Amino acid sequence: MKQDNCIFCKIIAGEIPSSTIYEDEKFKVILDVGPATKGHALIIPKEHYADFYELPENVAVEVIKLAKKMMVRMTEKLGSDGFNIVQNNGEAAGQTVRHFHMHLIPRYKDDGEILKYIAGEPSQEDLEQIKKIIIE
Ligand code: AMP
Ligand code: ZN
Repeated sequence: MKQDNCIFCKIIAGEIPSSTIYEDEKFKVILDVGPATKGHALIIPKEHYADFYELPENVAVEVIKLAKKMMVRMTEKLGSDGFNIVQNNGEAAGQTVRHFHMHLIPRYKDDGEILKYIAGEPSQEDLEQIKKIIIE
């Protein structure tokens, strides 16, 4: 179902232009207008799901298959040296468009620290505690 005021629903409906690099019955893959690197693209399902929590399992499987296909093709065509697949869920995780999408980010040798995080230093006890919370 198309959602009002959703920029990606508008792209899917053709109301907003996009540079489409792949399209089928269920998905569109477009170039990101604010790319982290050359070729940065987004896999967008044509149905509106806010995030990965909402994505039905069968659609999630298809997204992964498409990501693999696009990654191989883009690496070959763009001559990239590596590849990041990124997917944000919720404002706290940096999601700015609440229509599920997966980032396909070709990486090039020496293109900088694009997706850097600071590694924590938990004790074994800390890890055990977190493990307990998750598995219990
Ligand atoms: P996220 O922060 O994971 O929600 O990513 C949203 C992404 O959508 C950002 O990388 C934006 O640059 C990108 N974006 C926003 N509007 C458009 C648009 N009209 N066409 C293509 N990409 C867009
Ligand atoms: Zn939408």
